[in-house]
Amino acid sequence: MLLCLISLDLVADCPAPRTSLPAPAAATLSDDDATWAPGELTAAPWPEPGPAEDWMDVVTGDPEIPHARRLLQIYTLPVGAGNCQLMLCPNQNRMIMFDCGALPFDKVGWNKADVSAFIANLINPNTSISVSISHTHYDHNSYLPDVLANRRISTIVMSDTPQNYPANVRNWMRNAYNQGTRVLWKSGIYRSQAPEPPLSCYKPEPTGGWSIDVQGYVVMMNAGANPNDASMVIAQRYGRFQTVFTGDMTGETEQRIDNNLPVPLNQTTVITGAHHGSDSHDSNNPSWAIANQAEAVMFSAGGLFWHPRCAAAQTYRPYLLQFPRAHNFQCGRDHHWARGPTRLAAYSTNINGAIRVRADANGRWDIGARLNALDDLNAIALESLKRADLMPGPDTLYGDSQVPNTATPDIDPAPETNCGDPPPEDKAHRPH
Ligand SMILES: [Zn+2]
Repeated sequence: MLLCLISLDLVADCPAPRTSLPAPAAATLSDDDATWAPGELTAAPWPEPGPAEDWMDVVTGDPEIPHARRLLQIYTLPVGAGNCQLMLCPNQNRMIMFDCGALPFDKVGWNKADVSAFIANLINPNTSISVSISHTHYDHNSYLPDVLANRRISTIVMSDTPQNYPANVRNWMRNAYNQGTRVLWKSGIYRSQAPEPPLSCYKPEPTGGWSIDVQGYVVMMNAGANPNDASMVIAQRYGRFQTVFTGDMTGETEQRIDNNLPVPLNQTTVITGAHHGSDSHDSNNPSWAIANQAEAVMFSAGGLFWHPRCAAAQTYRPYLLQFPRAHNFQCGRDHHWARGPTRLAAYSTNINGAIRVRADANGRWDIGARLNALDDLNAIALESLKRADLMPGPDTLYGDSQVPNTATPDIDPAPETNCGDPPPEDKAHRPH
């Protein structure tokens, strides 16, 4: 394998002025029955863990931070050629998964047991679990039956219809449905008009009841006929922080996304690079980067297909923040790897490991990666001992459909980012 050295420098462009959030309204997703077919579970071998290194660009060593500051936590896990992302709500009472699967012949990262161990140490027994599946391809859902085995799942949301999913995933969804899990899908184009309760986070109100503090929206789904085109794209807003999960979105999907509905796309803070960083089928095209203006990009990729492609990664470059400290980044060009230090906020699981993003309600956020975050499990387990006083998940008390949906966006004035202290001149130009 030829290894080329590259250096990706920041080209500082100013994002367009940011606009206000859309007003919440009624939430809608279909809740139909389906015809289920039996399937089989599959097993995968265990990979050896790699060497560990600290989370990059992140202030570490303060285990009280998540508890005290009500941080939204997002993890992109290194499962090889696939996608497995999850989000822990600020009150830690709900975990939302965004895909979890990998191709069985590209084990360059965590296997199902690793993901399962990570989840076990991240959540507590009262944590409600919602699952979203971007599309029907195996590398986005094959791990779900195993990594969530024996856990009660509140809701599963997917694009397309259950019949088109792999047999083991259909079987898992059927069993979950029979045990009370809500299984939701749309077979046609859909975008949210308001926060979707299963995809949002809830905080308790002092006067009783719950309100949404992280608003989850379906930005687009089923934009085209083939599975990648059908990918469900989800945006999450926490105050001024916004992240977008893209699945294997192609240009077909990108073109059908309204830049203003249901969320103003150009307010995106952290984006998942679409389709593992592919540049085929117009994924990650330049007009998409202009539309979302993300300040950080994370790719979920294995050793196959030279993902992320350098051409795809470069489209995000004009808007990416720059850190004082460099980390390695790898991308594919002409069927070779290009690898080298970069100070840009771009990460890929196949060279950086697990990617972590944290955000608070004031718009502060950080991003970092760790080659073997499983080494963190002991620290996370210790932290979980501090969560004994956590409240139960909202739907264990009320059920999703009865949770009041009247939250107003939690936007505080004059926030500052906490994402690696970009140079002052760059920071001053960014309208956070
Ligand atoms: Zn994929």
